[in-house]
Amino acid sequence: MFLSMKKTCCWFVLLCGALLWLPACTTVPQTGRSALHLVPSSQLASMSATQFGQMKQETPISRDLQYNAMVRRVGDRIAYVAAPDMPNAQWEFVVFDDDEQINAFAMPGGKVAVYTGLFQVAKTEADLAIVIGHEVAHVAAGHGNERMTQQLLAAGGAALIQFSTADMESERRALLMAAYGAGASVGVMLPYSRYHECEADEIGLLYAAKAGYDPRVAIPFWERMAAQGGSAPPQLLSTHPSNATRTQKLKALMPRAMQVYQNR
Ligand SMILES: [Zn+2]
Repeated sequence: MFLSMKKTCCWFVLLCGALLWLPACTTVPQTGRSALHLVPSSQLASMSATQFGQMKQETPISRDLQYNAMVRRVGDRIAYVAAPDMPNAQWEFVVFDDDEQINAFAMPGGKVAVYTGLFQVAKTEADLAIVIGHEVAHVAAGHGNERMTQQLLAAGGAALIQFSTADMESERRALLMAAYGAGASVGVMLPYSRYHECEADEIGLLYAAKAGYDPRVAIPFWERMAAQGGSAPPQLLSTHPSNATRTQKLKALMPRAMQVYQNR
């Protein structure tokens, strides 16, 4: 029973792939990886714009002239070099006034927010360029769309299990659903999200270098980030790879980033 259901699930995913993969398959800029985007990007951008607008009403916006000028300068330069990868973006960079949050985030379509707490770790414009480069990279690489696509497919799989187990005893069925849920979130969602973080590091480093910021600051910057907060790391690092993995990957990327930095 379980095997045949597994088979059915595989067929479901394959069918989705066959039906949707080709028209929705895109290439991630800079890395050349193929990615599946099932949500129209214009729809995602307008959803993000609405959500971001709400956040701006609910969260105090910083009036600190220095922070705002820094974020605008770095944001403009990074957006400029990322423009060929994302010509339709409506970039907006906002500083939220919250010293407790050592964090920044980006939303599909080009909405980027930095919390004032981040400036405890990001001391220079080059440091800030590493974070903003990383956030802009998430947007340019369409990571939001890819995550949503994974969730849509996972929801489809869950619905199919529910349908094909309708005649099973409820206890076994509940167990199977729980196992599926855990598998979908841990097995599919989490590692992928770490992968996105690594990819955003890579693309972001190249953007920062292309925009004229010394990419070598990235390693000490992420190390300072990792040293924050003791056992509870800053939110920005929550789904990120371990510090050792990150440093290792950044070191491997550095020669390419330095070439971009010196030849820009
Ligand atoms: Zn990230």
